[in-house]
Formats: sequence, C-alpha cells, structure tokens
Amino acid sequence: MRLLDGKALAATITERLADEIEAFKAAHAVVPGLAVVLVGDDPASHAYVKMKESACKRAGVYSVVHKFPEDTPHDRIRQTVEMINDNPNLHGLLVQLPLPGHMDTLDLIDRIAPSKDVDGFHPFNFGKLFAGLETFAPCTPLGVMRLLEEYDIDPKGKDAVVVGASNIVGKPMAALLLNAGATVDICHIFTRDLAEHTQKADIVLVGVGKPGLITADMIREGAVVIDIGINRLEDGRLVGDVDYEAVAPKCSAITPVPGGVGPMTIAMLLQNTLAAARNFVTKPDA
Ligand code: NAD
Repeated sequence: MRLLDGKALAATITERLADEIEAFKAAHAVVPGLAVVLVGDDPASHAYVKMKESACKRAGVYSVVHKFPEDTPHDRIRQTVEMINDNPNLHGLLVQLPLPGHMDTLDLIDRIAPSKDVDGFHPFNFGKLFAGLETFAPCTPLGVMRLLEEYDIDPKGKDAVVVGASNIVGKPMAALLLNAGATVDICHIFTRDLAEHTQKADIVLVGVGKPGLITADMIREGAVVIDIGINRLEDGRLVGDVDYEAVAPKCSAITPVPGGVGPMTIAMLLQNTLAAARNFVTKPDA
C-alpha cells in the first residue's frame, strides 16, 4: 500500500511556486495578490483562512483578508466583492464558505469576476470546467488530480466513484476525472446502495463529511482511495470519511487525513492565484 503524501507534495509544489512567483515579480513588476472574504465566527473557516494566509506568505503572494461579523448585511459583502473585483492589485478573490444562513451564497459567487475566481466556483468557470476548457478548477479536486498524477495513477479508462456531489468537491471532482478519461459514478445522500458502487471502483474518492462512512467491505482489493473529508471528532482528532485503519491494508494507495488532500488544496490556491496574476499581465481585458 502506498501512502499518498499530500503534505510533502504540497510543500514541494509551494517551494517551486515561490521560485516561479519570484521570477514573475522580477519580469512584470507585479506581485500576485489574493483577497479573502471571511464572514462570521466559524472556527474551521478561520483556521482555513489562517492556513491560506501563511501559505501566501511562504510563496510570496500578497494577501488581504476582509473579516466581517456574522450579522453583516448581504449587500455589504456584495459591495466588498465588487470593490475587490475593481482592484488591480488583487488578482484572486475567494469568499470563504460556508457563509452565515442569511446570505445568498450563489449570488455572491456570481458577483466574483470570473477572471479572479481562483476557487473556480463561478458558474462561468464551472461551465468551462465541464466543457473540458482551460479554466480555474476548484482547488480541492484539482489538488486530488495533481496528487494522482505525481504518483503515476492515471484515471484514463479506470472506473472511478465519487461519493459526495457538492458544487465545491464532488461535482468538479467528477468533471476532472471525466475529462481525464475515467468512467465516473457520482454518489450522494440519495444513492440507494453506496457499497454496490464503491465495491466495483478502481478509484474511490470521498468528500461527504461523515467519519467512518467508507468501511473495508465497501472497497475492493487493490483500489485507490482518496479521502477528501475533514471531520473534527469530540476528542479533538481530525479524521476523514474513510475508516482508515481497516481500509488502508486493502488499498494499492490511500491518502491520510490529515496530510493528504487538505495541504494540496492550499497549494492549488497558490497556483490558481499565480495563474490569475499571469492572465492579468498577459490578457488584461479578459
Ligand atoms: P456538503 O455538505 O456540501 O456535501 C456533502 C455531500 O455528501 C452531498 O452531496 C451529500 O449528498 C453527500 N452525502 C451526505 N451523506 C451521504 C451519505 N451517507 N452517502 C453518500 N453521500 C452522502 O459538503 P462539502 O462542502 O462538499 O464537503 C464534504 C467534505 O469534504 C467535508 O468533510 C469537508 O470538510 C471536506 N472538504 C475538504 C476539503 C479539503 O481541502 N480536503 C475541502 C473542502 C471540503
């Protein structure tokens, strides 16, 4: 069984990106800039944003976080998004999800300039992704694809099962796998018999948010298992959606949690931000 070490790979990618960013700054006298909009007190969101900020620092990306209290009116956030859209020093913009319940998440994502949408959530970029066109792909599934590539796991011709069908994880994950030539099943809360799907898969990718959802009997011998879930247990431990101890011995390769997909997500955010800055200097009207 191979452990797919996202932490080590993300560190290597970030180092390489830091060099590229240095060269980009020297060539264009432009510092790649990322704006993050963070609303409310969700501790996990605050922790993720901190990680994003420190990754930006390590890679030489300028970052700014706009923090707002939980009860901020929707229009105030909308104005902030529009202000960042108009700021030529900020090339990437993301709104940290989830937002407080009174906010219209889709409306805010819709307001992000597609050229700054480094999370790849805007419907324009989402459409391009499904059409197989070059665009900003959402960072988590993009990180998974990069992890597979680095470990020479080619999805082409393989049976892949994506468990979880959200717009930020499952659906774009399925699109990237399909674009890479896999045959893809997408399972979700209404799937009648989840095990029936996962048992036949060469690659199982799970992003649900339920610890222990994937058990050893659901995985066939030699499968590749990618655990995208992040769950904080009551005792403080961080675990994925896969019963790691029982599943790992059956796999040909598996990601740990933590240290698997999570760090790759942040590395891909830096990559997308550099791409946005490159687009800014080469295609300023895009
Ligand atoms: P979500 O709640 O938006 O979506 C969950 C999906 O799981 C839905 O499509 C739902 O239908 C499906 N689902 C729920 N119960 C199910 C079941 N019993 N069987 C099959 N499918 C079921 O969540 P999300 O935002 O997509 O996040 C999913 C998980 O991925 C969470 O644990 C989250 O923390 C994690 N996540 C990790 C990263 C990372 O960088 N590693 C990034 C984003 C999200």
